[in-house]
Amino acid sequence: MTKKKPLCSYCGRKVCFHGDLTNTPEFCPSREYAALLEEKKETLRAPDNIKMAQDVARTWKEYGKLTRVEETLEYARLQGHKKIGLAFCVGLSEEARLFTNVLMNAGFDVASVCCMCGALSADDVNLPEDDKIIPGFRQPMCNPIGQAAILDAEGCDLHVLLGLCVGDDTLFIKHAKAPVTVLAVKDRVLAHNPLGALYTAKHIYTRINTRPPKDTATKVSGNKVAGDKVFGDSEKK
Ligand code: SF4
Repeated sequence: MTKKKPLCSYCGRKVCFHGDLTNTPEFCPSREYAALLEEKKETLRAPDNIKMAQDVARTWKEYGKLTRVEETLEYARLQGHKKIGLAFCVGLSEEARLFTNVLMNAGFDVASVCCMCGALSADDVNLPEDDKIIPGFRQPMCNPIGQAAILDAEGCDLHVLLGLCVGDDTLFIKHAKAPVTVLAVKDRVLAHNPLGALYTAKHIYTRINTRPPKDTATKVSGNKVAGDKVFGDSEKK
């Protein structure tokens, strides 16, 4: 039998949160992928993963009290990391300076690498002139693979991403050898708070469409609670 595609984003029940899977919607991955999840639970319990998972849970002891900066310090401390690799965007240089102070003041060794390391330009990736911001001019180019390589070469235990562009973060994570966490992502328009676009969707809905796609209505029909969520505020506009 074909599996239903998981659509947790349309689930209004979230019964998994309470550990009770008796009343899941039909698109629930806990139900449809039960065997795979059982297998992956064992992966999570493997020696190289279980301590990481436990330490994440330990940071929850201060639930709702710690900022992400503090949670990052706490997680790194619990993991026993000594040297943090900070990969930051040139546009967030001031934030990188402050966060380096925070890390060093908390007793961590730090290596930090700016996205402009190696002084690349768009010509290094053969970007056509017409695709540049200003054709004919040098366009600086981020170097996420270089950042990852240097921070790995420095022997960093944990890499922290600060404001890398969409896609540059993907390349960094793809190529880094040490584990990676994200302190902040870049949103040049919304003060690096990309969720602001969703929180203000009612006002900028002409630019981003948060209404449920038409065919989704059929796919999730029968899941009344999810339907309430799906066809909530955004549809009343
Ligand atoms: S669909 Fe299932 S796994 Fe997803 S949120 Fe709902 S209950 Fe949880």
